[in-house]
Amino acid sequence: MALIVHKYGGTSMGSTERIKNVAKRVAKWHDAGHQIVVVPSAMSGETNRIIGLAKEIMAQPDPRELDMIASTGEQVSVGLLAMALQAIGKQAVSYAGWQVAIKTDSSYTKARIASIDDAKVKADLDAGKIVIITGFQGVDEQGNITTLGRGGSDTSAVAVAAALKAQECLIYTDVDGVYTTDPRVVSDARRLNTVTFEEMLEMASLGSKVLQIRSVEFAGNYRMPTRVLSSLTDPLMPLEEEAKSGTLISFEEDTHMEQATITGIAFNRDEAKITVLGVPDRPGIAYQILGPVADANIEVDMIIQNQSVEGKTDFTFTVPRGEYQKAMEVLEGSVKAHIGATSIVGDSKVSKVSVVGVGMRSHVGIASQMFRTLSEEGINIQMISTSEIKISVLIDEKYMELAVRALHKAFGLENS
Ligand code: ADP
Ligand code: ASP
Ligand code: MG
Repeated sequence: MALIVHKYGGTSMGSTERIKNVAKRVAKWHDAGHQIVVVPSAMSGETNRIIGLAKEIMAQPDPRELDMIASTGEQVSVGLLAMALQAIGKQAVSYAGWQVAIKTDSSYTKARIASIDDAKVKADLDAGKIVIITGFQGVDEQGNITTLGRGGSDTSAVAVAAALKAQECLIYTDVDGVYTTDPRVVSDARRLNTVTFEEMLEMASLGSKVLQIRSVEFAGNYRMPTRVLSSLTDPLMPLEEEAKSGTLISFEEDTHMEQATITGIAFNRDEAKITVLGVPDRPGIAYQILGPVADANIEVDMIIQNQSVEGKTDFTFTVPRGEYQKAMEVLEGSVKAHIGATSIVGDSKVSKVSVVGVGMRSHVGIASQMFRTLSEEGINIQMISTSEIKISVLIDEKYMELAVRALHKAFGLENS
């Protein structure tokens, strides 16, 4: 008997029919003698619908109030799933994040989990119940409801699994594992049986939304075995077969059987580029530009500073597209005049494409192959950033899919 956490995403919970299938699958695992905690997302489209309502009222809704409503989709899901389990004769109980409690900081819309109380959940499991906990939401010290950022149910699930010292966290979704790139963009992308934790971390941080990055961080910090698998198979398929399906995030680099140089291609449409022109080239300038941006809680990603000409330089960086306006306001508001910059220009129609693989450590020439492939397609590279196991480029968003397909082919990642 083991304690196992199941997470079901929006599509998997997308209709009452699908929820009944989730119940059948969960009941199968429980019947096999396991203790099961389920962390579902809101039904697909629901979180977008709710946030859309808020934006009809005001363009920049108060983040506390936004979290108050954005978190409700998950509350509907847990209740429906508990009912679906009860309807097939299982004891099940659902909890909102604050009832567990899943404590977070107060950064509304992107809160971080600080602690999870396992007492109530353990008592229910020991009493033979299946426990269902809302994904995506938590509660801060003052009792305010918070959410963990879009896609945050993955993080809820892995964090709950870590807090309960579960044997495994199974992330059920609408694809049957982690692929060399998004199979919706490249139809002959290949499913990976294993992906190293480091590669998954890079892919998630570079935009592969199959797992939210913080869930991968939790998996790494607690060495929680985490598997991505399909919720769209027959819910009554043999459990042994299901348990081995999908993609396992591995922590041992040498167990990485599919040792190719490049493991995958990630992309992110959610990028915007800002350039501060004519900045005096003196110590402290990067801090004077980026300090106020960080103070506004805006994450900066790629950064380049040009060679200075006659004591002046240009400073370019990227921010999430949703924070672009806010970042521009911060810079126009106080920074520009303070540092004596000539002007600030921006482009919110850029995308980042990255090649990822631990094999890069032992292979040379990956960057040149990447740049050659892009040049053959006539795609201009605007910015470049690298780490030991990834190379990212910023390009015009209209070439993003072309770049992903060309790189996927150039690095031989397609299904043979
Ligand atoms: P869920 O609602 O289950 O959380 P998401 O939509 O958040 O599902 O994540 C699953 C989606 O991630 C897939 O449908 C797929 O389009 C996308 N995706 C992006 N990159 C990858 C990848 N490398 N492998 C698999 N899926 C990917
Ligand atoms: N429902 C939330 C979202 O749409 C969380 C999740 O699905 O993981 O972002
Ligand atoms: Mg998701």
